[in-house]
Amino acid sequence: MKAFEKNIRKVEPYVPGEQPQHKVIKLNTNENPYPPAPGVERALKEFCTDKLRLYPDPAAEVLVKELADFYQVKPEQVFVGVGSDDVLSMCFLTFFNSDKPIFFPDITYSFYKVWAELYRIPYECQRLDEDFRIVREDYYKENGGVIFPNPNAPTAIYEELEEVEAIIAHNPDVIVIVDEAYIDFAGRSALELLDKYDNLIVVQTFSKARSMAGMRIGYAVGSPELIRYLNDAKYSFNSYTINQISLVCGTEAVRDKEYFEEGIRKIIKTREWAKEELKKLGFIFTDSRANFIFASHPHYDAKVLFEAMKESGIYVRFWGGERIEQYLRITVGTREEMETMFAFLRKYMKISE
Ligand SMILES: *Cc1c(COP(=O)(O)O)cnc(C)c1O
Repeated sequence: MKAFEKNIRKVEPYVPGEQPQHKVIKLNTNENPYPPAPGVERALKEFCTDKLRLYPDPAAEVLVKELADFYQVKPEQVFVGVGSDDVLSMCFLTFFNSDKPIFFPDITYSFYKVWAELYRIPYECQRLDEDFRIVREDYYKENGGVIFPNPNAPTAIYEELEEVEAIIAHNPDVIVIVDEAYIDFAGRSALELLDKYDNLIVVQTFSKARSMAGMRIGYAVGSPELIRYLNDAKYSFNSYTINQISLVCGTEAVRDKEYFEEGIRKIIKTREWAKEELKKLGFIFTDSRANFIFASHPHYDAKVLFEAMKESGIYVRFWGGERIEQYLRITVGTREEMETMFAFLRKYMKISE
């Protein structure tokens, strides 16, 4: 080992889902199958490339203001970043500096563990129960902060707001982050609780319900005080996180509320239909409230099935981790994409229509 080796930060990185460059039915990274709002395309067409000479507004004011209007909060309560991964990473850096361990579920977004390791934050995973539900009392123990997604990923389970509130209320001395990447497909958001709790940060993204994973925009909403701390950390890192194009396209996407809501309705409709179809094929799955379904089949090995689907050009996600080794995570695509998947599954299982 070379002497400098011992001073190099070594981390086991997050492994993102595959992004195949050839055409496949892509149901593996929870992207939205529909295009972004029409205003985004217009903004791109009209975008003046001369603008690229200049640095973007470091405060991303137009985007922050649009989001604040949409969610009826003050602009001082909104922080934007390069996807919610960037926002969440900034939150870990800013809010999780205790000697006590931060808490998150044992089955959850695998990036949490990666950031905790990267920033050397002690952590303790709390075991979901046999139905993959969060056990609220586990989060009442002394800790250095709490983070969980709602709906959770990859389980797709939504916890009612009362459950979320209980965890926030029992942790007044630490910051509680609710990662709401999939909330638009689910139910009531913890944003409703912001007036009541000053230890709450809600993180959302443009990647799922707003069809803009490729643009990389995410945001946090919290008290002006917490948002100020986040901005201080950001300005100590990289001031210009949101580029000129993201600024205009992101703003356009938020403006079109009708398109946003219509897109969500379509996905929920396809999801509920897909649940029925999966049931007919003998799959078992959690009651998904996200844009993906976490499913298992009693007679077919998940890994073998995953490989067979991939072989035929249908990409879903498989981890093989403890307790979830027999599960596949299937993103809800268009009705047509799902029909193709079901046709494959019927053929694979030798079931006639
Ligand atoms: C997709 C996802 C994110 C990250 O999304 P970005 O594309 O970085 O905005 C964050 N948390 C969860 C739970 C997710 O599933």
